Amino acid sequence: MKAMILEQPGTALKLVQRPDPPPGPGQIQVAITACGVCRTDLHVVDGDLTEPRLPIIPGHEIVGRVSALGAGVEGFKTGDRVGIPWLGHSCGCCSYCQSGAENLCDEPGFTGYQIDGGYADMTVADARFCFPLHGEAGDAECAPLLCAGLIGYRSLVMAGAESMRLGVYGFGAAAHIVAQVACYQRREIYAFTSPGDAAAQAFALDMGAVWAGDSDKSPPRELDAAIIFAPVGSLVPAALRAVRKGGVVVCGGIHMSNIPSFPYGILWGERVLRSVANLTRQDAIDFLELAPKIPVRTHIEEYPLEQANEALYALRSGNLTGAAVLRP
Ligand SMILES: [Zn+2]
Ligand SMILES: [Zn+2]
Repeated sequence: MKAMILEQPGTALKLVQRPDPPPGPGQIQVAITACGVCRTDLHVVDGDLTEPRLPIIPGHEIVGRVSALGAGVEGFKTGDRVGIPWLGHSCGCCSYCQSGAENLCDEPGFTGYQIDGGYADMTVADARFCFPLHGEAGDAECAPLLCAGLIGYRSLVMAGAESMRLGVYGFGAAAHIVAQVACYQRREIYAFTSPGDAAAQAFALDMGAVWAGDSDKSPPRELDAAIIFAPVGSLVPAALRAVRKGGVVVCGGIHMSNIPSFPYGILWGERVLRSVANLTRQDAIDFLELAPKIPVRTHIEEYPLEQANEALYALRSGNLTGAAVLRP
């Protein structure tokens, strides 16, 4: 197999050849056909996330075909199209796992962080954390569903089913999927982008947003809830100011710059500020069943696997519309 590996945070990924990994007990071996590039990969590569297993193959939006089954695997056969997300392992016995919150597991394993991920042409994964992918969408189009879609969906659920006017801060991979789900649910999306980013605002309107504007401006109407995908702490007080009494502000990113201090008055009125961490397998089952019904269509830019560094650079510099996807 070939892979792009990270040896040390802050350095470029390197192309390596390795022997094909055999599937262990309970694992499937997957011939990778596409892997999305997520902002979290950037946080791993840049060292913002401090617990990687090194060297590591990044990537946790993996799509491929089952190429071999380990002992004891049920529910998959060779040739099945599968997706592999960020949650690659949970302990099953901590209080979080026992209460249906395995996304908060005390002893988790994350794909592309502690478990080798999808910047490769092959991988092995615990079959219990892999999901069949149905629908007409191509492999590369499906890849962003595995994290941008799942985290976006979980954030949307946390924003509350009754929240019909929804702000979204940062209009990239996750937001463009959330917008489609929200429109399907007959909610209104108000999209906030970096001030002056006309291309992102046009993209948001194209994806069904009823309004798009600069993140330093107020929306035309008071919002019921807001989701922040951009890793920018100063958006937290901005979003709190934009939501009504009792409204919810959801931080959907895994890393964010410091949140500036803000007057208590903008939280007062039973506004709720919360984060969303990781995903549960139930989130994956729910969202991957819903996505083909809408159907969610992702906007992607494909890069050859060998150009993973270029894809990360494009994401870092904001030069992507939609999501970057690596093809081995
Ligand atoms: Zn656990
Ligand atoms: Zn991700």
